[in-house]
Amino acid sequence: MFRSAAAGVAGASTLALPEAAMADEVDTSGAVGVFIDLTKCEGCGACTEACRTKNEARYPEPVDDIPVNWPTGKYEDWSDKRDLSDRLTPYNWTFVEKAEIDGQTVNIPRKCMHCDNPPCANLCPFSVQEKTASGPVVINENGCMGGAKCRDVCPWDIPQRQAGVGIYMKLAPGLLGGGVMYKCDMCADLVEQGGQPACVSACPTGAQQFGPKEQMKQLAEARAAEIGGHIYGATENGGTSTFYVSPVPFEQIDEAIAGRKTELPEPMRKTVPGMAPDVENYLDTAGGLATSYAIAPIAGIAAAGWAAARAWKGGSE
Ligand code: SF4
Ligand code: SF4
Ligand code: SF4
Repeated sequence: MFRSAAAGVAGASTLALPEAAMADEVDTSGAVGVFIDLTKCEGCGACTEACRTKNEARYPEPVDDIPVNWPTGKYEDWSDKRDLSDRLTPYNWTFVEKAEIDGQTVNIPRKCMHCDNPPCANLCPFSVQEKTASGPVVINENGCMGGAKCRDVCPWDIPQRQAGVGIYMKLAPGLLGGGVMYKCDMCADLVEQGGQPACVSACPTGAQQFGPKEQMKQLAEARAAEIGGHIYGATENGGTSTFYVSPVPFEQIDEAIAGRKTELPEPMRKTVPGMAPDVENYLDTAGGLATSYAIAPIAGIAAAGWAAARAWKGGSE
């Protein structure tokens, strides 16, 4: 259950805010979302630090001898790169992209968009991802096998994999699964208690704001109209819970990010999300439909298994 909470919306600047958004308390009993005003982001990284502090207890601690996967002969290990803060990794769930455009730097906080119809959750073969009623898309890290289907179908490659950790190590290491996938969960635990995400609370400029989803969308629309700017997240991937406003077109931002990607070694490129406008939801494609039909029986069995395990655990406590 979500309760009412004081949130950052009250300090939302010179915009003509919806009346409810100017109140001291924000009703978070329904769908929630995030508004990110790129004109206010100074790239200080306080959001990244806040996320690390809040979530470091959940970061993976892999075994020393990580099993090599058959048949790829590879595995993904970020445990010796924990300090990286300029991309997404299992140890860094948000970062600030710095896009150089026409001699100016545009700072862009990046993290999971919490899509309305998330292919990552809907196509997880083991049903360990969930789109909650209020909006956060969360991974059950205890059940994730690390197959990375969620990353494959996310248009921004958001979930990141760490090998040598998780349930696959108890089942068939080297043969089944590949680790655990990690990503931003919108601080679902804080939100559930009536709070707001740690990264939003830490932002000193009000570039990130949190509240009822419809109000965040209205703030983005008002800000875009005020500056003649552009919105990202309202329609991409079929709609999301995150609304960016930029003074420059997102096509230009995406081009700048693509330039940075080409400078990275191939395995690193999926750690830097692009910003292509109007990206299609994989679930709306023929391939996505076919995949959802194909995995439905497996996902159903897995979901039933998890439900039974939860019921058993509940009964044994
Ligand atoms: S941004 Fe990617 S990982 Fe996040 S909910 Fe959407 S599809 Fe899933
Ligand atoms: S919402 Fe929470 S988990 Fe997501 S980036 Fe912000 S602090 Fe990290
Ligand atoms: S804390 Fe705020 S101003 Fe600083 S980088 Fe993050 S979004 Fe930008």
